[in-house]
Amino acid sequence: MGWDGRSRLLTERETIAEIQAAAAKVDRTLLMIPGPTAITAEVLAAGARPVLSHSDPRIRTFVAEALARLRNLFDAPAAQPIIAAGSGTLAMDIGLANLIEPGDRVLILESGVFGRRFQAIAERNGAEFLVESAPVGEAVDPDRVRRAIEAYQPKVVTITHVDTSTGVRLDVETLSRIARERDALVIVDGVCSIGGEEFHGDAWGVDVALTASQKAIGAPPGLAIVTVGPRARAARERRRTPFPGYFTDILNWLPVMESYEGGAPGYFGTPAVTLLANLHTALEELAAEPMPQRVARHARIAGAFKAGVAALGLHNVAAPEANANTLTVARMPDGVGDELIDAVRAEGVTIARAIHPELRGNSFRVGHMGICGPAEILTTLGALERGLHRLGQPVAFGAGLGAAQRVLAGAND
Ligand code: PMP
Repeated sequence: MGWDGRSRLLTERETIAEIQAAAAKVDRTLLMIPGPTAITAEVLAAGARPVLSHSDPRIRTFVAEALARLRNLFDAPAAQPIIAAGSGTLAMDIGLANLIEPGDRVLILESGVFGRRFQAIAERNGAEFLVESAPVGEAVDPDRVRRAIEAYQPKVVTITHVDTSTGVRLDVETLSRIARERDALVIVDGVCSIGGEEFHGDAWGVDVALTASQKAIGAPPGLAIVTVGPRARAARERRRTPFPGYFTDILNWLPVMESYEGGAPGYFGTPAVTLLANLHTALEELAAEPMPQRVARHARIAGAFKAGVAALGLHNVAAPEANANTLTVARMPDGVGDELIDAVRAEGVTIARAIHPELRGNSFRVGHMGICGPAEILTTLGALERGLHRLGQPVAFGAGLGAAQRVLAGAND
């Protein structure tokens, strides 16, 4: 029973009718954009609790366990993870700004629009930069990177593991080895990869890796996550000039995180306690699936979805050897524009427009990471087939679904 606006006690029947009317308004379209992604009911429910003090023993446990699990997820035993309220862009800002001083050189490996965010952060901090770009859909060439590092002698090399604007995955292991040969610090944007793609922070020589809560980790948006390795911390501690950031200063955050991990609360800025409860459950679910298995699951789903898209005659933007497992960016047929996104939504699935300047209006993006499984990609391919048909495109119904089914069933092996 509830109260209506005039303070009259509603009857049970009226209350049920209200709840049913509200339920009918719930958006039941399937969320298949490359972040934020759909999350499990358990992760969602974890936040449905009274707001707790940030020094409450439950929050202390959530943070301590979340930090330990993040260290495993990034496979970075020597690094200290930081969780701060914010999005992936904050994580990029924290990660890069702490490493650079005015006049320092940054080499940006660009495989889509997100690389340029590192450029903006470098510029704002007075650093110099050089951008090594790949043509749209291709990975940056390691030989060109080696030559650029030798000629430019950067202090920091930035790598976008998976660029969400092109669907291109870079070979972090090779690129960071090349950077390390010349003693450069390596920062990796793993916003669209960590939790879905293979990643070994320490073994690959990554000094700072970062992500956010809303993609392959499977938690709601709102938390920035950064791991700080020993060389990165030393670079911050050895600065010659004062660090201009305040909220973004890792020296404000590292002691707080270390304190939580030691069992005591810490405080710098009020933590997003409710989101921490969501994140804690998401990481618990993540830890229950061994990482190699999780990566293989993402690869299988990606393989099936991309095969389905190709069977519909739609071109995958990323070259096969650089095609990410967390999302697909594909060209729309000639003569079809963003109305395809609306048509697919009318068939029950939300997919995303392209954001890269060369792909805007002629491509679409689908995320398949986190909790995404066969049911979601088959539903999406079905909606894509019907959406194309709605727009008058010739469609061999079942072609995309059939190709995906064969991959999922291992029938091509
Ligand atoms: N890097 C990559 C690769 C991304 O995909 C995104 C977000 N789509 C960001 C950085 C920025 O993250 P956020 O939108 O959470 O600030």
